[in-house]
Amino acid sequence: MISRIDLRGSLPGDLRDVLPRADLDVEAALEKVRPICEDVRHRGSAAVREYTKTFDGVDLESARVPAEAIGAALEALDPAVRDALEESIRRARLVHRDQRRTDVTTQVVPGGTVTERWVPVGRVGLYVPGGRAVYPSSVVMNVVPAQEAGVPSLAVTSPPQADHGDGRLPHPAILAACALLGVDEVYAVGGAQAIAMFAYGTDECPRADLVTGPGNVYVAAAKRLLKGVIGIDSEAGPTEIAILADHTADPVHVAADLISQAEHDTLAAAVLVTTAPELADAVERELKAQVARTRHVQRITEALAGRQSGIVLVDDIDAGLAVVDAYAAEHLEIHTADARQVAARVRNAGAIFIGTHAPVSLGDYLAGSNHVLPTGGCACHSSGLSVQSFLRGIHVVEYDRDALAEATARVVALAEAEDLPAHGAALKARFGWTIPGEGR
Ligand code: NAD
Repeated sequence: MISRIDLRGSLPGDLRDVLPRADLDVEAALEKVRPICEDVRHRGSAAVREYTKTFDGVDLESARVPAEAIGAALEALDPAVRDALEESIRRARLVHRDQRRTDVTTQVVPGGTVTERWVPVGRVGLYVPGGRAVYPSSVVMNVVPAQEAGVPSLAVTSPPQADHGDGRLPHPAILAACALLGVDEVYAVGGAQAIAMFAYGTDECPRADLVTGPGNVYVAAAKRLLKGVIGIDSEAGPTEIAILADHTADPVHVAADLISQAEHDTLAAAVLVTTAPELADAVERELKAQVARTRHVQRITEALAGRQSGIVLVDDIDAGLAVVDAYAAEHLEIHTADARQVAARVRNAGAIFIGTHAPVSLGDYLAGSNHVLPTGGCACHSSGLSVQSFLRGIHVVEYDRDALAEATARVVALAEAEDLPAHGAALKARFGWTIPGEGR
């Protein structure tokens, strides 16, 4: 059901060569999405509608979801789901509100200051996946940080669901989540065509400055392709869980958590890194027993059996930490005797979950943390979605005459060293084409 990699003895030089990872060929998908994006660029909403027909099997009259449909979805929402979404929003707001930035002014020299002013992006497009599974939770995870950052214009898009409502709308739970968050600009578009719609704009949807949110390989490829035309967050592709565990871990919990993420996608990755071979055996037995009881047996079995998943055996926690750092998982759970201390030593992960009472599923919905996190090893250089993702820091420079005079000789020296004398001249022009203080 799940492969084993035995790294006891010694660790290879570049661990990334031997660790499990999805055969997620974003480069190959790039070739597939390039014509889609070009077409949306040139033909706008007509192309968006055509690709929605091809890939989602839905004939859209208009990509924009009518306001009444958003309101109706909230009215029809199961009260238990409404309660859960409201609490999820409340907790996410607490965490993301604390991420707000304040402007900082630094006095560099007397009369010379640099202020970093934090300004929200003007308009963002928020992608909420809806292919294999639908993610009202991703509405919360995208919208809350954008709102807390103060983004003035935001739009949500999610693929239409042929088997729900009138067959042309995103999933009703997604619309209801938008209603709870006060989002009234929603589109029924998924995949690469949605990213291109935000990047280039159409007659129905004004272009956005930034697009964020998780998605499948086509969404990831379109983001990679259009980066620059539009800003993107990190590539948040098929989900990953890594668990670092020792002999104290409970195999029932470990197996349940591996399965919980394998449930997302056949390409989802579930990796156990352990110092305890007996735990590995027990987790394998548990996986067999628990998978048989799940609703999505086939999807989970495929994800666990795929080359992206596996059980890695290591000699000790130090080796385990080297492995999880090299893997740079989207989600990392620590199930060891001294989990908090071990977690403090981790350098690369999208989010870290400490101990048996903080499973990834809690983070997916209700911990207050964000679940849009970097995948595919990108956690070694990128962060998950946050208020910061929607802000730009603008340096505001203010120098008075004396402060500029004091800086001129050094600016001229550096400008000469770079063979850009006009740079120095721009300062000298303010002081009668001389360098203040020179020769005195
Ligand atoms: P999705 O919305 O990302 O993709 C569905 C869209 O893909 C469809 O609307 C369609 O337009 C397009 N598509 C489908 N087949 C295509 C084809 N052959 N060619 C071109 N376009 C095609 O939904 P999904 O497929 O369920 O994927 C969601 C992904 O998001 C999962 O892999 C899940 O693990 C991941 N996810 C990641 C995070 C994270 O933070 N990393 C969070 C939630 C979900």
